[in-house]
Amino acid sequence: MNKKSFTNSPILYLVGTPIGNLEDISLRALRILKEVSKIYCEDTRTSSVLLRHYDISTPLESYHNFNEETKAKAIVDYIKDGHNVALISDAGNPIISDPGFKLVEECLTNDIAVTTIPGPSAFTSAFMTSNMPFPFLFYGFLKPKQTEREKELQELKYQKASLIFYEAPHRLKDTLESILKVLGDRDCYLARELTKKFEEHYYLKVSSLLKECTNLKGEMVLIIKGYQEEKITADKFSLIEEQIKLGLKANAAIKEVAAMLNIDKKELYKDYIAYKSK
Ligand code: SAM
Repeated sequence: MNKKSFTNSPILYLVGTPIGNLEDISLRALRILKEVSKIYCEDTRTSSVLLRHYDISTPLESYHNFNEETKAKAIVDYIKDGHNVALISDAGNPIISDPGFKLVEECLTNDIAVTTIPGPSAFTSAFMTSNMPFPFLFYGFLKPKQTEREKELQELKYQKASLIFYEAPHRLKDTLESILKVLGDRDCYLARELTKKFEEHYYLKVSSLLKECTNLKGEMVLIIKGYQEEKITADKFSLIEEQIKLGLKANAAIKEVAAMLNIDKKELYKDYIAYKSK
């Protein structure tokens, strides 16, 4: 992509807003929101609460998932007419599991400068309190359908980075069941209602969180510890060898351990052969 020049041309500002506590907004964000010609947001009712709180009277207009494509072109025309504009989301940073990708793409295609006024994101805030190891992989929302969700998790199974997910409270139980099935009973962390009155933090195993989570409401971030090669492979291979010592043939031992751990026996067979041939 070409280097973009920012001098004297109208700008798209991507502005971070609070994820709960209205005080979590920068002085620069407030100034820019006052100065731009228009603020694009997901839901004008939600964003007008923030603007009223800070006495900002800049016109608000909606830009959401359902009109992203067509609206992006109209916004670009408006910017080309010489207007600076800002994009915000209901909470946190735009683009991060929120609309904005199309607009940025359209601006860059049209040589319009795009810049950021960073603010809090739920996932960075949750990672800080999680005490989970770095690096992390921010995934956003898993798919709601079980088969699709488990396919996504299957692809993440051997990822060593801590895995960060956004989740809605009504889907948390199903998601944890899929995680337990596909990734196993790992360490996990759940941050609920960050920066709000009823903020909570859970540091548990997936199976324990599953028992606790039946009535959890509000906004939540879920973090699952990444794949720990030495620990998991050592565990499963030593289980296979224990079964062999007990008198089973290798194939039968693998089948037994795969059933015990609820994992795929063909995958386990392949892993075991690779381990033995090292
Ligand atoms: N753009 C936002 C950001 O930068 O974090 C995320 C928007 S996404 C549509 C909304 C999800 O973020 C929620 O379902 C929840 O998973 C997470 N979230 C937002 N606010 C939160 C909060 N205060 N505490 C915990 N999770 C939050």
